[in-house]
Amino acid sequence: ATAQAVPAGPVVQDTFLCVKPDGVERGLIGEMIVRFERKGLQLVGMKMITPSRSLIETHYAEHRGKGFFNGICEYMSGHPVVAMVWRGVDAISVCRTVIGATNPTKAAMGTIRGDFGMQTGRNLIHGSDGPESAAREIGLWFRPEEITPASVVPCINKWLYE
Ligand code: UDP
Repeated sequence: ATAQAVPAGPVVQDTFLCVKPDGVERGLIGEMIVRFERKGLQLVGMKMITPSRSLIETHYAEHRGKGFFNGICEYMSGHPVVAMVWRGVDAISVCRTVIGATNPTKAAMGTIRGDFGMQTGRNLIHGSDGPESAAREIGLWFRPEEITPASVVPCINKWLYE
């Protein structure tokens, strides 16, 4: 078999983030957004919606059958959330780093979950964990015309990337 060539240079990614109902209720939407903005990520899609149970069940389909599945569906559906798409080089892992570990009691201080959370079941924000889940989640929550085209490149990028 021929080895697949690894693309050279930085890879721009889109990732799906969602401020969960506890983040909205606690007045932390702006506090969270500012952390991604000042890191250097580009906000390319955003809407507040109250997701249905079926949207959340589809979003968390990989967890169906687990003990916490019903709890996460109750927590996430029927309350307003802020769904967002953020773009940048390595955006998926960069956003996961800004968010912190799943369990807020283990998450590093300086991360969103480390700074503001107390329990896994109330961990404030979701972020896609890889390229496949990012593509799937963006397609589930957004229509293509709700996402800024890749041709809209922020002027600041020349100072973020060499
Ligand atoms: N979750 C939970 N209890 C658990 C594990 C997960 O309530 O024992 C919830 C939690 O809100 C978490 C989400 O299910 O963020 C999805 O879990 P995952 O392991 O994918 O964590 P994440 O990618 O959000 O860090």
